[in-house]
Amino acid sequence: MLGLARDNKEEKMTLIRFKASQEQDVDLSRTYDAIVVGSGAAGGMAAHVLTSQGMKVLLLEAGKKIDINSELRSMQWPYEHPRRGEAPPGYHAVRFNEYNIRKPPYAKGSAFKHVFSYVGGWGGSDYVKNILVDEKDNPYTGTKYAWVRARLLGGKTNIWGRLALRLSDYDFKGKTHDGYGEDWPISYADIEPYYDKVDLYLGISGHKENLPHLPDSLFQRPNKLTASEVKLRKSLATMGRTVTPYRAGVTTDGVKNKYRSKCFGRGACGRRPGGCDIHAAFDSPTGLIYPAMDTGNLTLRTNSTAHEVLVDPNTGKARGVSFVDSQNHRTYEAKAKVVIVAASTLESARLLLLSKSRQHPNGIGNSSGHVGHNFCEHVMGPGVTGLVKEMVGAPPTLDDGKPGGFYVPRFRNLQDKQPGFVRGYGFEGGSGFGLFPDSAWGTPGFGGQFKKSVREHAGAFISMGGFGEVLARYENYVDLDPEEKDAWGIPALRFHYEFSDNEKKMCEDMANAGKEMFEAAGIEVVGVDKNILTEGWSIHELGTARMGTDPKTSVLNQFQQSHDVKNLFVVDGSSHVSASCQNPTWTIMALAWRSCEHLADEFKRGNL
Ligand SMILES: Cc1cc2nc3c(=O)[nH]c(=O)nc-3n(C[C@H](O)[C@H](O)[C@H](O)COP(=O)(O)OP(=O)(O)OC[C@H]3O[C@@H](n4cnc5c(N)ncnc54)[C@H](O)[C@@H]3O)c2cc1C
Ligand code: SF4
Repeated sequence: MLGLARDNKEEKMTLIRFKASQEQDVDLSRTYDAIVVGSGAAGGMAAHVLTSQGMKVLLLEAGKKIDINSELRSMQWPYEHPRRGEAPPGYHAVRFNEYNIRKPPYAKGSAFKHVFSYVGGWGGSDYVKNILVDEKDNPYTGTKYAWVRARLLGGKTNIWGRLALRLSDYDFKGKTHDGYGEDWPISYADIEPYYDKVDLYLGISGHKENLPHLPDSLFQRPNKLTASEVKLRKSLATMGRTVTPYRAGVTTDGVKNKYRSKCFGRGACGRRPGGCDIHAAFDSPTGLIYPAMDTGNLTLRTNSTAHEVLVDPNTGKARGVSFVDSQNHRTYEAKAKVVIVAASTLESARLLLLSKSRQHPNGIGNSSGHVGHNFCEHVMGPGVTGLVKEMVGAPPTLDDGKPGGFYVPRFRNLQDKQPGFVRGYGFEGGSGFGLFPDSAWGTPGFGGQFKKSVREHAGAFISMGGFGEVLARYENYVDLDPEEKDAWGIPALRFHYEFSDNEKKMCEDMANAGKEMFEAAGIEVVGVDKNILTEGWSIHELGTARMGTDPKTSVLNQFQQSHDVKNLFVVDGSSHVSASCQNPTWTIMALAWRSCEHLADEFKRGNL
């Protein structure tokens, strides 16, 4: 361990760090070509594509810009922190039981000074206390929902889990395949070139598998599977299923970007709730925003919470954005020829609904009444833990020195038809030695014998948990609460959302299938979790302003352009027509790239 720490110190000394360009003074008297609201995966991509096309862009971000490297402290050992990574007293993360027993707003009446979503309760809460939103300032109401938000430059990409997957025509043409819901207005062939661009610009690590339902990316060097994972892979292959190394939105071979380094395989992204202080893992600031600032075409204003898309009373078109400065609480206006909303699925819906005018009485872009509806995501909870007996007592290996474990792609309802549910699920998993052997919590005994047993078993466990598609349903929606407001006086979101029987049946199958697969591989099953986690737990919320060809049943066209207001675009996950079971961020960025290229073309032709 000491050797490793010393090596890392040496690596740190040779690493050249570039500081991002300084923020400019923001001139609010001028009319920008475009305003982008939100600086996460979607907004960062919009800023990158539009500025590289020569457009003058103002990026408004509600959160602050923090010194993320000193916040993440990726290489800090637990014993170097006064509380082993825990936040100081006064901070509280909402727990699973609280989400289910109580109703939102979860921070209301709390004795704690600061309240965070459940992610703040993962080991290392001190590292995310300035990244996650304080629920005291940012309440929401309605049905139970574990809403995880990050308000800072780069949004949730600062701590995302990095699993970067493509969707296929099983997803884009889901209705054609099984009759449920709506097809997307695009097919895989439309988005494939943009997935390729995202892969090449940002870097992705993985292994080709040639699966029609999980298309391969243009991969950089993959992570190696552990011995236990290879065992599972061999067994699943006989069932026509796949175990593939974690497809990580991480550059392992390097990319042309002076703000990022290639992955050192430090495994540090698994030690904290997330984040990589050398930015081998993609994050929007270093991957997209700082390079966009270097073009000279991007102006950034942080601490700027948009609360209304302003409308030209003569044309009904968007003319700018009204925002509140989160620090001085004053309201300002910014003007632009095009407005791009990218505040994340739920915040974008909130902003559209807040933007009421004579021309758009139900909120801008909402003549269909579909804004906030068809809200979908992933369901999770069921999973399995196993013991690989031949690994008991094996000498320690550096199994977590990589940015992820393994992935089992969807195998249900592809060629087969399951009796209880439509669509499918995949598993994320991992095995082997980690910084802390979690099995120690459940190991009986004490003293020398206890330590020996923990050491012997530390590398022998393997586990995986499912992520399933939640069906997009009109009845699952968010709207504005008539009374509750956030700390800046902006109406809060109200949830009307719950899982259906399809998700519940799918979860039963997840637990059974996980157990069967471990048993078939000769792995001793030591735990099967059948419980479904609270709605929202996956942090993959999607679908509140869906794309479509019919303006009566959809909000956006195939270029994420409002059917009602041609100079308004919504380029985040709210545009997704269905959730698929694959993690959404790579698709969010590929779609945003495609739409913003179209936007820039139309802008140059004077069509917006
Ligand atoms: C712990 C964790 C693990 C995850 N793991 C994965 C994974 O493995 N794979 C995957 O694909 N996805 C994962 N995700 C999800 C991923 O982070 C999101 O899909 C992605 O960040 C969405 O991008 P976005 O731009 O829509 O939203 P965000 O990244 O949330 O960015 C939105 C930005 O808009 C800002 N904003 C909000 N409202 C306003 C407003 N009114 N005015 C101005 N700005 C505003 C916010 O402050 C924020 O900076 C994970 C997320 C978390 C938190
Ligand atoms: S393992 Fe790679 S991606 Fe993860 S923190 Fe370390 S360098 Fe970053």
